[in-house]
Amino acid sequence: MIATNDTIAAIATAPGVGGIGIVRISGSGSAAVLRSLFVPHRAKSILKNGSLQSHKLCYGTLTDRDGVVLDEVMAVYMRAPHTYTREDVVEVQCHGSYLVLQAVLAEILAVGARAAEPGEFTKRAFLAGRIDLTRAEAVIDLLQARTMGGVQLAVGQLQGELYERIAGIRDALVELLAIVELAIDFPDDDVDILVPNHLLEQLRDRVERPLKGLLAQADRGKVIREGVSAVIAGRPNVGKSSLLNQLLQEERALVTAIPGTTRDTIEELISVRGIPVCLVDTAGIREHEDLVEELGIERAREKLRQADLVLFVVDASQELSKLDLRLYRSLGDRQRIVVLNKMDIADTERLEKISQKFFEARQVRTAASVGLGTEDLLDAIYQTILAGDGDTDIHDEISCAPNIRHKMILEKTLSACRQLQQTLLSGEAADLLAVDLQATLDHLSDIVGLTTPDDVLDLLFSRFCLGK
Ligand code: GDP
Repeated sequence: MIATNDTIAAIATAPGVGGIGIVRISGSGSAAVLRSLFVPHRAKSILKNGSLQSHKLCYGTLTDRDGVVLDEVMAVYMRAPHTYTREDVVEVQCHGSYLVLQAVLAEILAVGARAAEPGEFTKRAFLAGRIDLTRAEAVIDLLQARTMGGVQLAVGQLQGELYERIAGIRDALVELLAIVELAIDFPDDDVDILVPNHLLEQLRDRVERPLKGLLAQADRGKVIREGVSAVIAGRPNVGKSSLLNQLLQEERALVTAIPGTTRDTIEELISVRGIPVCLVDTAGIREHEDLVEELGIERAREKLRQADLVLFVVDASQELSKLDLRLYRSLGDRQRIVVLNKMDIADTERLEKISQKFFEARQVRTAASVGLGTEDLLDAIYQTILAGDGDTDIHDEISCAPNIRHKMILEKTLSACRQLQQTLLSGEAADLLAVDLQATLDHLSDIVGLTTPDDVLDLLFSRFCLGK
């Protein structure tokens, strides 16, 4: 673990040229560093009775140790504990030249600060108890979010939504532990302190159910943070490329076209109602003699195998062909939406027959070349990727979604909770119950960082950028 009694510094803004660039310092030596390098334009604006005023932005120059001016800056000293790290913090706003920022940082390091590790400011905030681990993780998620859905999730977590739900479960476990410990301390008491049915009920309602609820939301969190890939498949000329173009027009494309190798697949990243969706057009999946084309087909099939979702397009204006059916069968158990395209020229009777063929699948009717039905298709994509097997309600507010680290801990906690129920049911002695309860509590405490091992913390904070 990094020592927390030294003073650290880093450039807090992204590399490159910008309007302003910020160097941040944290630790008990922050004020001394500022005093040795910063010359205020008017001393009175930052000094009061000889000491630095807290939370006051001040204009002046930043010099090197020989007094040579490096930049005109705005500086602020923030006295502990009302700061990001709960330590003394200084921020110096320079002009946004990376050369200037590096020179300023070099001087700060030369007068006694140490270069901060990635994420060290946030780690100090965590170690000082200002934020729990879920909030620290939310900071990373916020910085790395790819869509507004991801941003909303990170902000909710930063505001403690996940923390509060974990705290509720912990409180229940602590209460139960108190009852069991009372029963251990007063074994001969006339009043029966341990009522197994009451404990079981409490465990089910206040521990097991909320744990399951959080686990159910974990997969949706992954989808919102990381997105999914959707492959557009179907035989030639059914309208796959037209559909891709329509979807790109409807939803802002996040990235410009990345042609695979021109002849196989094209990928575009779009945001479907706030969820990143990588759309893959497998124009290459067709029966063909050409060897080069064959390679493209193999790559397209690979994409199909890796896809989270398949948009299977058929031409609703024609009878289904053998190729349509063969391709459809090759989807196996992939999650899919069947797109009945060319609705504008389809006749009703044939349409119904085609629709019946795919009766078990979610279907959407479109006319891609004239832009009809794409909104419905976007809705269907959103619902399919969020609802999965349909056991979660997509209209639930997704204000909190555990990440993979939380999910693993929640699963461990749930199995510890089940072990505890077994112990209760088999009428074991109170001290055994206490051991199981403590184990369940310890597992859960890992999420908020109360019992998290140092190496896990180091790994977690190393995902941050410098200066955060
Ligand atoms: P792909 O080979 O599956 O990618 O199909 P394309 O998108 O290249 O479309 C093949 C042909 O069908 C083109 O001439 C399109 O203009 C036409 N097409 C695509 N979608 C529709 C549609 O909804 N209605 C009609 N009438 N024609 C369409």
